[in-house]
Amino acid sequence: MSKFAITGGARGIGLALRDLLISEGHDVLTIDLSEGDVSADLSNSIGRKKAIDAIKKWAPEGLKGYIPCAGLPPVATPIEKIPSVNFFSAIETVESLQALLSMDAGSALLVASNSAPMLPHDHPFVVGCLAGDEEKSIAQIKSIGDGHIAYVGSKRALAMWMRRNVVYYAKLGIRLNAIAPGITQTDLTKQVYDDPKLGQAMKDFEKSVPSGGAATPDKIASAMNFMLGESARFIYGAVFFVDGGSDAMLRPEHF
Ligand code: NAD
Repeated sequence: MSKFAITGGARGIGLALRDLLISEGHDVLTIDLSEGDVSADLSNSIGRKKAIDAIKKWAPEGLKGYIPCAGLPPVATPIEKIPSVNFFSAIETVESLQALLSMDAGSALLVASNSAPMLPHDHPFVVGCLAGDEEKSIAQIKSIGDGHIAYVGSKRALAMWMRRNVVYYAKLGIRLNAIAPGITQTDLTKQVYDDPKLGQAMKDFEKSVPSGGAATPDKIASAMNFMLGESARFIYGAVFFVDGGSDAMLRPEHF
């Protein structure tokens, strides 16, 4: 039995993964705003430190997997919370957990999105994220003032950061990968459906999914479980699309 830590594990995809891992006999620690095993607001450095300290205390002998799944939708306010949670909290916590992951030949599975390569993004914002400059990235995204650009750019930076760091982490004995879910029935999606500007486009997109509609969280969780498990032990640096065929439909020439 192994230990896994999941941020955003109180709801949606993170909760489905937690339940699946526990059903297989693993130990799971969830970190979330208020309903996790550990309560921490990952949008700021105090909450991130609280989460990191709690994970280190809980798994001093090592972690088999770390999944920074906490995320905010494009409609979240204020806009700066989107990169702070979706990108910076994920990277800062992964970096701080290297030693624990290394101890148990573990892996970190980042949660990107199929929207990241598909939709327009702001290059300076993505570059700022990749440079690790949270202040500058926030200033840039506030000047643009578009939540979708913030969401897509954060997820794009996350997948790029993962690809850039695969070799370094492999040398530490850690596998880095990302999952890129498509539209999934969670609170996050509901918040977008309820938005007067983005709601209809999101509903139309759901109708276009080749498999016939949005995923339920367990469908994403089962693919994540595979990526975290022994069957995936030679998989490094993959951005694994689990989206009912949307990425292949919209970007057939890319792989
Ligand atoms: P969700 O809203 O059901 O769950 C997100 C969780 O993150 C919640 O439990 C929430 O409390 C937590 N969270 C948010 N802000 C936090 C903060 N500051 N500190 C700590 N925890 C915080 O959403 P979901 O759809 O399950 O999303 C999980 C991940 O999947 C996110 O990273 C999201 O971007 C990604 N994703 C979702 C979809 C989708 O269609 N739902 C598609 C692609 C990617």
